[in-house]
Amino acid sequence: MTSNAVVDVNISRLNKTIRVPTGLFINNEFRPSVDSAERIEAVNPATEEVICSVVAASARDIDVAVAAAREAFNTTWGKNVTGWERSKLLHKLADLIERDAQELAELEALNNGKPVRIAREIDIGDSVQCLRYYAGWADKITGQTIEVDNKAKFAFTRHDPIGVCGQIIPWNYPINMWAWKVAPALAVGCTIVMKPSEVTPLTSLKLSELVKEAGFPPGVINTVPSLGAVGGAALAAHPDVDKIAFTGSTVTGRKIMEAAAKSNLKKVSLELGGKSPHLVFESADLEQAANWAALGICYNTGQDCTAGSRVYAQESVYDKFLELLVQKVKAQVIGDGLDDRTGAGPVVSKIQYDRVWGYIEAGKNQGAHVVLGGQKRDSKGFYVDPTIFTDIKPEMKIVKEEIFGPVLCVGKFTTEEEAIRLANDTSYGLGAGLHSNDANQCMRVSSALEAGTVWVNQYNILSNNVPFGGKKQSGMGRELGSYALEEYTSVKAVHWNFGEKLEWPL
Ligand code: NAD
Repeated sequence: MTSNAVVDVNISRLNKTIRVPTGLFINNEFRPSVDSAERIEAVNPATEEVICSVVAASARDIDVAVAAAREAFNTTWGKNVTGWERSKLLHKLADLIERDAQELAELEALNNGKPVRIAREIDIGDSVQCLRYYAGWADKITGQTIEVDNKAKFAFTRHDPIGVCGQIIPWNYPINMWAWKVAPALAVGCTIVMKPSEVTPLTSLKLSELVKEAGFPPGVINTVPSLGAVGGAALAAHPDVDKIAFTGSTVTGRKIMEAAAKSNLKKVSLELGGKSPHLVFESADLEQAANWAALGICYNTGQDCTAGSRVYAQESVYDKFLELLVQKVKAQVIGDGLDDRTGAGPVVSKIQYDRVWGYIEAGKNQGAHVVLGGQKRDSKGFYVDPTIFTDIKPEMKIVKEEIFGPVLCVGKFTTEEEAIRLANDTSYGLGAGLHSNDANQCMRVSSALEAGTVWVNQYNILSNNVPFGGKKQSGMGRELGSYALEEYTSVKAVHWNFGEKLEWPL
């Protein structure tokens, strides 16, 4: 295999070809593994066909990538590149992603299944904005000057880059999660070893080409597609990695914390799963509440950590709301992401397809009532049509566990207290939504909901300048906003004496 192997991916449906690098991206070069012939197959979930295969990094490759990131941190990036220059490079990268947005969106649709239009306008549009938001921060990373209890002394703090960051991302938003991770880390001056999901490695590799074109020095961002248990585990346990930023399942998050604790106690931030509740009170605009609830479960085919997968409506409006909700969810067009009419694609993989159908069967077996969906298609592709269950009970698997597919549980409540109790009856705490036209109620309920993000009269809308993260078993640390900068910096306090003489001995 040559070090810069690329493949021409033919997208017959669009009558075009996209060139995709397939090597590991280390020190600004695409290269083979140092010791392994393993490859990862990228699959199109709409057709079940293999798109191409890419090099799978071994544990030794992770060592090489970490060494490259360390070298860049200790030399070029850490020594010679100022905040202003980091800002310019982040803007340049954002420019290149904007230039190539259509091609990146097509590749994302091909490998992940999501619609090209949504990938381009939302995932990539938001990623460009994320890079520009943190480009704005790059020359504004400041500490404090602190007066101490002595006029001949003072102290100041520096917010130093934490060092080499391992970043491990999932398959549901491959470009977006990449941007959320790399932008704040680069802004403060860290270097990166990025491990994309083995399910969706293609756009991370394509973005790596743009990293080089933008002019980032070698070793600043290294991209190592790998199986989680191989490259992900090696990165989490690596003694020369200073921080791991992880987005993925709670099960894997636990393993990452263990690996960090057993190796060098590296700093860890975890964005994990959820089972987010969505409350509809009787004063709400029911039409709007139904729209947001439909978005909450249908967006990205329900493969969303904040998917509003448990909706509870007040008894007095339950029937009307359910009727509207079913209508709205039915209106969603599910199909091939390469088709312009598609609003949501298939689920990402066969594993995910089997997992989601397992939950739908469990819901039926445990006595929940299917009011929409619940039937498999008789065609190719990992399709799951949106499925709505009613007559749910708290102990049912579909109510307790994260499904990560378009499967919604709808229940009812009588009082506000009951609604809050039902909403918080979960080990997760990522997102929560509420719909009400009573301002006092909105304030009371949003304060009582145990979640890192609460949406009032809307759902699932994020902003790059507002923090995002979880409580309970949905994770720790925050992404986005100024809060994310804290995840990638280490505060150093410098105590300065400009006059006090020490009398010795004391
Ligand atoms: P996953 O945990 O299986 O994998 C996520 C990443 O971790 C992948 O890159 C995988 O290769 C890697 N990995 C797997 N085993 C590993 C190990 N032992 N050590 C280190 N890395 C390992 O999750 P997934 O199936 O890719 O993604 C779905 C999950 O991600 C859902 O639970 C979802 O809620 C969560 N998620 C959370 C957020 C958030 O911001 N909170 C966002 C998106 C997805």
